[in-house]
Amino acid sequence: MGVLDQVLAVTPTHTTIKVVNDGIPLTGSVPPELLREYFRDLHGDDSGVVQSYASVRRRVLDQILVEAAAKAGAEVRTNFAVRELVRDGDRVVGIRGRTADGQTVEERARIVIGADGRNSFVARTLDLPKYDERPKCTFAYWSYFSGFDLGPAQLHRRGRLASAVVPTNFEQNMVLVWGPSEWSREFRRDVPGNFQRALDFVAPRSARRSAPRGPARSGSTARWTRPASSGRCTGPAGCSSATRSASRTSARPWA
Ligand SMILES: Cc1cc2nc3c(=O)[nH]c(=O)nc-3n(C[C@H](O)[C@H](O)[C@H](O)COP(=O)(O)OP(=O)(O)OC[C@H]3O[C@@H](n4cnc5c(N)ncnc54)[C@H](O)[C@@H]3O)c2cc1C
Repeated sequence: MGVLDQVLAVTPTHTTIKVVNDGIPLTGSVPPELLREYFRDLHGDDSGVVQSYASVRRRVLDQILVEAAAKAGAEVRTNFAVRELVRDGDRVVGIRGRTADGQTVEERARIVIGADGRNSFVARTLDLPKYDERPKCTFAYWSYFSGFDLGPAQLHRRGRLASAVVPTNFEQNMVLVWGPSEWSREFRRDVPGNFQRALDFVAPRSARRSAPRGPARSGSTARWTRPASSGRCTGPAGCSSATRSASRTSARPWA
């Protein structure tokens, strides 16, 4: 889409990542040829592959994409919620939705594309079949912290828990903690506390610099910028090392 330069202009990027696996640190980058091969396998196209790691906030990326779509001729309507599909027999011929000021609007089209994400209203309404379903195996919590700079992205794993600290927009770091689904109920009892305990357990050194204990301490601008959002990963990444190493360490730092 030609928006990479715009993204990189406002997003920190690095060419290396640090991975610490049960105390064993590795720093490096994926060779560009391997990245190209991966993209060829996955998308049949390796154009535009660069060796830069960047974590972009959705509100930054979405804004850039929306502006690029408008520039390419699309009519963009934000704050518009699709509520119904308009049908003609067994064909979908349009949508009905609500504008930001509460007006109901109907639009008709030759093709209606349901690009509405994981919990797609379109897919649900049409009862579309699911494919390649994976078991839910991982929970994850993340939030954004400012006031420190750890350099390139870091991924740590200890036993069944893992964490990542990744620099992102607005001079903040995305701090993510994940673990096996069967621990999520216990974790949810005290999210900020268990988030901190998990970080202390998995990556004590970066935890000391990244996450506050309770309210921001004096002398530190690190902060809990909003309640951590939760998500479940169902893809292969979510089911990888943290789960496979289950038998080796079952320690729960909050237990
Ligand atoms: C914490 C986290 C980290 C991730 N990290 C990565 C990563 O590093 N790399 C990666 O490749 N992927 C990552 N992903 C996955 C990635 O975000 C998704 O795969 C991707 O966003 C899916 O794109 P999409 O366009 O299908 O859906 P979405 O990005 O979810 O977009 C759907 C859009 O439709 C809108 N919408 C939904 N319903 C309606 C409605 N009724 N009316 C109007 N609009 C509607 C939503 O508001 C949204 O804007 C991550 C996901 C999470 C949660």
